[in-house]
Amino acid sequence: MQYVTDCLNSGWISSKGEFIQRFEEKFSRYCGARYGVATSSGTTALHLAVATLGIGLGDEVIIPSFTMIATANAVVYTGAKPVLVDSEKRTWNINVDKIEEKITKNTKAVMVVHTYGHPVNMGPLLDLAEDHNLLVIEDAAEAHGAEYNAKRVGALGELGCFSFYANKIITTGEGGMLVTNNEDLADKAKLLRDQAFDREKRFWHRYIGFNYRITNLQAAIGVAQMEKIDAFVETRRRNAHLYNSLLKDVNGITLPPEAKWAKSVYWMYSILIESSFSMGRDKLMEYLARKGVETRNFFYPIHKQPVYSGRYKGEKYPVAEQLSCKGVNLPSGNTLGKGQIEYVVECIVSAST
Ligand SMILES: *Cc1c(COP(=O)(O)O)cnc(C)c1O
Repeated sequence: MQYVTDCLNSGWISSKGEFIQRFEEKFSRYCGARYGVATSSGTTALHLAVATLGIGLGDEVIIPSFTMIATANAVVYTGAKPVLVDSEKRTWNINVDKIEEKITKNTKAVMVVHTYGHPVNMGPLLDLAEDHNLLVIEDAAEAHGAEYNAKRVGALGELGCFSFYANKIITTGEGGMLVTNNEDLADKAKLLRDQAFDREKRFWHRYIGFNYRITNLQAAIGVAQMEKIDAFVETRRRNAHLYNSLLKDVNGITLPPEAKWAKSVYWMYSILIESSFSMGRDKLMEYLARKGVETRNFFYPIHKQPVYSGRYKGEKYPVAEQLSCKGVNLPSGNTLGKGQIEYVVECIVSAST
């Protein structure tokens, strides 16, 4: 509230003002990146990333089928084609071993998603990308602070994108950021974010840009959120560990992954309801709703979405489909207390017996 008031008092409430640069510096540094370009949303950060890399009509970008719709949309906005790959059971992320068979002469990039806060196995992915000369974009909208081999996600490839929507690890109401270690890409992204206004000649445009700017008001909230991000991540992890310890002996439930090389931030605390559980996933969700516990089912895979299914006729991604059918996100927010988690588990246990 103090920073927002400072912002209002300064009169700089639009997309110029000191909080934007402060937020970009703080957040990019947090990600181990040299540059940050704040945007109006995670979706616009993703579109800006693809556009900044010069990807467009005729190009292909490999993405996981199991993801939130914005990953695919960001590719489609540029005219490029999202090519789908199945997930792996181990981490629920893109199956790196299945990428190579999808590479064609038109493949320009891989956009990986650190699903529900668990990082992708980036080592093998980066090796593969190097072998095939592919650019790597991280959709890290769900994974602020997640680590692959003790390195934070976001700047592991060419460009990383984050969302600051209200339910993400930190929020600015709406907002996003692109982070990178590449100065030229950061410069190009800043140019395109701001209608590609030429810096020397006013109202002169060499590219088709966008208005994907964030406001100083939102950035003021972002700067304040950065003072709390470590505590937020710690809370998510502590809550996940509590859920894990209470749920580990319940028959028919698969707990969320955390690979040896990974630090997950558990954006969502997510479990799979297996066929050995006493009721199906949807029935359990209804049961929990009656007990006052709100839950969310997992994403529907991109190849099953009404808007995209026509493009992927006959394609099968069995792991993505299974995750989509079996997965449920339990209450996961920062403000969740120990008693609330115990109550959620109590309800699940009573459903299982
Ligand atoms: C939330 C999310 C986005 C989009 O972010 P917005 O800020 O809502 O536009 C993109 N990708 C993934 C994986 C997300 O979870």
